[in-house]
Amino acid sequence: MSNDFASLGLAEHLLRALETARYATPTPIQSAAIPPLLAGRDLLGIAQTGTGKTAAFALPLLHRLHTTRTATRPQSAHALILAPTRELALQIVDSLRMLAEPRTRIVAVIGGQGRFGQVQRLRPGAEIVVGTPGRIRDLMSTNELRLDGVRHFVLDEADRMLDLGFIRDITHIADALPAARQSALFSATMPAEVEKLARAMLRDPERVAVAPAERVAPRIAQSVHFVPQAERARLLAELLDDGSLSRVIVFTRTKRGADRVADALTEAGHGVVALHGNKSQPQRIKALDRFRDGRARVLVATDIAARGIDVAAVTHVINYDLPAQPEDYVHRIGRTARAGASGAAISFCDPNEAKALRAIERAAGTEIVVAGGAPEPRQQARPELVRPTPAHRAKFRPARNGRRAA
Ligand code: AMP
Repeated sequence: MSNDFASLGLAEHLLRALETARYATPTPIQSAAIPPLLAGRDLLGIAQTGTGKTAAFALPLLHRLHTTRTATRPQSAHALILAPTRELALQIVDSLRMLAEPRTRIVAVIGGQGRFGQVQRLRPGAEIVVGTPGRIRDLMSTNELRLDGVRHFVLDEADRMLDLGFIRDITHIADALPAARQSALFSATMPAEVEKLARAMLRDPERVAVAPAERVAPRIAQSVHFVPQAERARLLAELLDDGSLSRVIVFTRTKRGADRVADALTEAGHGVVALHGNKSQPQRIKALDRFRDGRARVLVATDIAARGIDVAAVTHVINYDLPAQPEDYVHRIGRTARAGASGAAISFCDPNEAKALRAIERAAGTEIVVAGGAPEPRQQARPELVRPTPAHRAKFRPARNGRRAA
């Protein structure tokens, strides 16, 4: 494995861009994935967000597009990158723009934004299209996006794509791609469905996996408050009295829940933005900008909306509701303690959610410290079970057919 970018053989302009971006050394997924991708191999990458996987596919892609430079054709693309959410797609576009030569034509094709503008941008053709499956299919169906010139295909966060029900869209899109292409598939986990998809899409792929060193960064202080639903708003307000919670993401399970929490905090005078699936793309971009530049101290979000969001210096993640999936806990709290910073994760747990909390502890591979509220349910005595005796049964057995037992 190589520990500097220059020895990987990347083009000079990419090395300069890396210097500007202050990426000094490749991350493990970059060291493992870049050489086979540069050599034209297909790749199956098992890596989570936060490992540097975007640059792991972006650098070799930009290198190869640069060295085999060909003219673009109207409504066509040389490379297609599929992402499960709009936010992730836009983050990939940002990473590509940061690394690519300025004239590289990179077009986002995502839902929630004007379709017309995207079609216009595709008119002269693009080197790279980054998109979400629904809008890509939409533009394919009207021939406003043609995929027969795609030579490089990346499917990012395949497991999440399948969770979100995109399997048919992905298959439809993959079927429209030329057989002679290079493909890479990235996924944080490898359930059987992803293996199946990988077998169908990739040709003799190089497999690279970066096991997360620890499932949860050790710099995240995790705690739980046992607090009934009705008390959560008050507890959140109390926690926010502490100024050291300077950049906070609050997770709720539902969109309505996110709006309710955001409204209550706004009323209490806090700078708040909300991010969830009912927000339009311009609203989401505005919300994230306000949070990034500190005008809003609190971002209230649902799991899907927050997937892949990379905001620096988040000091606290608050799980207002526990996540529906235990693995989402790890994703949620991974929004803090990024890039070597430390952070804290505080979870609100109803006393009757102890089982869900156990599952989360198993997924995170840690025990979560109890910070306050009711005594921890696992230490509470169980109510005595009363076993019925034969005498009980005889006494309480109902009479059959309305007749008295003899
Ligand atoms: P990703 O897993 O692609 O979402 O990347 C996670 C974060 O790591 C992003 O903020 C990147 O800008 C950053 N990053 C990626 N590669 C490197 C690198 N080689 N050195 C430093 N930071 C990096």
